[in-house]
Amino acid sequence: MARIAVIGCGYVGAVSAACFAELGHEVDCIDYDVSRIALLKAGKSPIHEPGLESLIAHHVDKGRLHFSTEYPERFAAKIVFIAVNTPESQEGAADIRAVRDAVAMVAPRLAPGSIIVNKSTVPIGTGDLVAGMARRAGGGPISVVSNPEFLREGSAIDDFMAPDRIVLGSDDLEAISRVAELYEPLDAPILRVDIRTAEMVKYASNAFLATKISFINEIASICEALGADVEEVARGMGLDDRIGPKFLKAGLGWGGSCFPKDVKALAHMASLHGTHPQLLRSVMDINNGQRLRTVQKVRGALGGLEGKRVAILGASFKADTDDIRNSPAIDLANLLILEGATVAIFDPVVPGARIQSAAPGVEASGSAMAAASGSDALVLATDWPEFKELDLRDLRQAMRHDVLVDARNFYPATRARAAGFEYHCIGRPSEEGAPLRALRPMTLAAVGGA
Ligand code: NAD
Repeated sequence: MARIAVIGCGYVGAVSAACFAELGHEVDCIDYDVSRIALLKAGKSPIHEPGLESLIAHHVDKGRLHFSTEYPERFAAKIVFIAVNTPESQEGAADIRAVRDAVAMVAPRLAPGSIIVNKSTVPIGTGDLVAGMARRAGGGPISVVSNPEFLREGSAIDDFMAPDRIVLGSDDLEAISRVAELYEPLDAPILRVDIRTAEMVKYASNAFLATKISFINEIASICEALGADVEEVARGMGLDDRIGPKFLKAGLGWGGSCFPKDVKALAHMASLHGTHPQLLRSVMDINNGQRLRTVQKVRGALGGLEGKRVAILGASFKADTDDIRNSPAIDLANLLILEGATVAIFDPVVPGARIQSAAPGVEASGSAMAAASGSDALVLATDWPEFKELDLRDLRQAMRHDVLVDARNFYPATRARAAGFEYHCIGRPSEEGAPLRALRPMTLAAVGGA
């Protein structure tokens, strides 16, 4: 078992460190964030991620996980993972300043023959840049490996411990083998490629998944116009092995800390190098459109938004995480506020202060009932499983008006209607009570029928 280090203890770093400890390795973790490190040292998780806190507590206790805010004079570890943030820059490129900073701190502190492994999502060519920095640090030969991370927030531990694949990119095959050994207990295929290809696999995978969601959202809009049910369409498509059922859920669109910045960064890189990423641009366009279409549904149902109170269920970008970076729910709140609505949000795990800093002027409610009370419309924005348990009848009774916009097709229409709601959803006109009969003759006429 090896001694390794992880730089950055966020969603990827903390999970990777805890999971590497679970695989039997000893892990030194460094992050500048003092409060994050204080929590981790105490065996607590700084983020909401199922299963993470108990794993951290266990391995801190066993002495396999160490945390610090300071870089050591010399690393004891000979393999150092970089898992720092690479946010979106104003121009749409990935901002790799944190990666540069981390490498500048790591490289001079490594013994010759060490390996820097990059887990952050970085523009194609960053590996070469890191190799150049390591060379210039002058402490002897240091190898660079790209090992992009594919974990999903909300199921990060399972994703790390049972990955579909592990991608390792480098021109140093021995370095690849040494990193591969760390993952040996996992029964996963390992793709060994060059460093740029590894970096590209990450962007291409995220862009493809975002495309799948935008595709079904576009189909949902067409379903609404033509009187088909997108949920059944997605089921019918997903049963085809070549397509598969995942990421075919129509709704409010994708968000979070990865898809938005990664699709944008890939399009940016493509444009910078003279190619025209038309598909990626459409994928982003459709995604933004889903937020706007949802605002339109609320506005349409209420006959205007000025002076109306809208309750939003969910703030995180998806269930089982407290991450609100690029959250569709937050975007929706800001759009509604711009149109003069008062907005109350309830989320089961995201602290109210964070919701308010992302959506200034919003009321952060302590419960679904508090948000719904006196509201004109209720919008289901994040599919937290506990929202299934809500008593819709009670919520309806506490409201001033009866509109429910289900932006994730989460509730059965019959249940929502039985609770007294005027129910609206995405891409299911029959569920919404749209005039299907009026659509039918038009559709038939369009295909040359009656
Ligand atoms: P994060 O913002 O949650 O965590 C990054 C951490 O790095 C922060 O705690 C920050 O303080 C620390 N940091 C920054 N610079 C540092 C430095 N020089 N030295 C020490 N610590 C430093 O980010 P994240 O969500 O974990 O993402 C990390 C990378 O992994 C990004 O490139 C992201 O695109 C990629 N990624 C994220 C996910 C995800 O689900 N969040 C999944 C796959 C890949």
